[in-house]
Amino acid sequence: MDNVKELRERLLIKKKNGGRILAEEEIRNAEKFSKGYKIFLDEGKTEREAIFFAVNEAKKNGFEEFNKEREYKPGDKIYCVNKEKFLILAVIGKNGLGNGIKMAIAHVDSPRVDLKPRPLYEDSEMAMFKTHYYGGIKKYQWTAMPLSMHGKVVKSDGSHVDIKLGENPDEPCFCITDLLPHLARQQMGKKMSEAITGENLNVVAGSFPLRGDEGKDSVKLNIMRLINEKYGITEEDFISAEIEMVPAYKAQDIGFDKSLIGAYGHDDRSCAYPCARAVIDFEGIPQDTIMSVLVDKEEIGSEGNTGMKSLFLKYFVGDLAGKYGIKGRDVLRKSKCLSADVNAAFDPNYSGEYEAANSCYINRGAVITKYTGSGGKSGTSDASAEFMGEIRNKLNAENVLWQTGQLGKVDAGGGGTIAKYVANLCVDVVDVGIPVLSMHSPFEIISKIDLYMLYRAVISFFK
Ligand code: MN
Ligand code: MN
Repeated sequence: MDNVKELRERLLIKKKNGGRILAEEEIRNAEKFSKGYKIFLDEGKTEREAIFFAVNEAKKNGFEEFNKEREYKPGDKIYCVNKEKFLILAVIGKNGLGNGIKMAIAHVDSPRVDLKPRPLYEDSEMAMFKTHYYGGIKKYQWTAMPLSMHGKVVKSDGSHVDIKLGENPDEPCFCITDLLPHLARQQMGKKMSEAITGENLNVVAGSFPLRGDEGKDSVKLNIMRLINEKYGITEEDFISAEIEMVPAYKAQDIGFDKSLIGAYGHDDRSCAYPCARAVIDFEGIPQDTIMSVLVDKEEIGSEGNTGMKSLFLKYFVGDLAGKYGIKGRDVLRKSKCLSADVNAAFDPNYSGEYEAANSCYINRGAVITKYTGSGGKSGTSDASAEFMGEIRNKLNAENVLWQTGQLGKVDAGGGGTIAKYVANLCVDVVDVGIPVLSMHSPFEIISKIDLYMLYRAVISFFK
C-alpha cells in the first residue's frame, strides 16, 4: 500500500483551486489584470464601444491600420476594423503566414434590450420606449433595475450622433417596470418564461407633458422635444438607429476577499479583453503570425456582415496571404484557433443542472471545452483529440491553470459558440474560456484568477 499516494499522484486528475495553489505573485498579477478589465467593461458596454476601446489600446501600442498596398515584415502590428463592430489585431510572425496563423476569437456583443425602430409612444400620460430583446435573456431579470442608453443614430442629413446616457450619477437612467407583488397573483402563477412577455419590456422614458399643450400625446411630444434638444434628432431618426438599453451600473468586486467581479457583459468581454491584450502585450516577434479577432452578433447566431458567419476574416487572410504569394485557403488549413467564450460555472444554488465531474468551477482557471451543442452534440464542431492534446500539453508546459468544462448536464439545455464557423474554414479550433455564474443575466460573475489565466493561456498558445 506504500505506493497508493504515488499512484494517486501519477494517475488521477487533481482538483486545483487557484486561490490555494497559485503563488502570491500570480494572484497579485490577476488583481492587476482585472483592474484594466473593469475599465474595459465600463467603457465598452456595446459592441461598438468595445471595438473602439480595443482599437485605441492597439493604436497606443504601435498597431497600424491594415493597408492592402503595403508590404509587411515580421514584428509589424496591424489592426483592421469591419463596420465598427468586428476587429482583427495581428502581429506578423517570423514565418510570415507559411505555418498558418494562430488565432484567438471572442465576441463583443452581449444580451440586452434594443429599442424598436419606432420606439417612442405615450400611454396613460407616460412616455415609453418599445423594445425588442437581443440574445437569450430571462426577461424578468431586466425589469426594475437601472438601465442606460447607448447607441448610434443616423439623421436625415446623413450625419450621425452617438448616444451614451445614464452612466454617470448626474445623468438620468431608464427602467422597465414590473408589477407589484400585491397585484401579481395571476402573474406569479405563470411559468417564468411567460410571466414577463417581450411586449412587456417597455422602458420608462419620461412623464411630464408639454406645458401649455392640451393636445394628444403631449408627454410624448415633450420627451421628443427634450431628445431633439439634446441630440438634434426627430422621431423618424429612430428608424435609422441602433440603441441598446444595458445595465447602468459599473463592474464591482464581489465577496470579502474581492476574488470575483460582478458586471454586465462578462459574456463575452471576459474573453475578448484577454484575447486583445494577449496580442497587444505580446513581447518580441512571434514565430507564427498571431491574431486576435473580436466579433459581433454571436448572441443571435453569428449572423450578418459583422458576425462570424461573414466572410470578413476569410477575405482578410486571403489579402494578407496574397502578399506572400500564397493562397488564403492554404493559410487557413494550417491555422489554429482558440474560440474564446465563457462556460457555465458550477453553481451551488443550481447543482442539479450540472454534472459535477465535467463542469467548470470558479477559480480553477481557464476552461477548455471540447464540444458545446445540445441534444446529442448537435451544433458543435467538437475539437479533435489531436488539437485537445496540443493545447493541453502547451498549457501544462507553460504552467497555466486550466480545467475542462461542458455546458451543464446532458440534455439540460445547451448552446453554441463561434467555434463551428471557424472550423468550417478548415482551421483547428477548440473553445477556451472562463467560468461564469448567472450567465446572460444583467449582473454576471467571474473570478479574477480565471480571467488572468485565460490571458496567460492565449499568450502561451501564441508563443
Ligand atoms: Mn458567449
Ligand atoms: Mn452568450
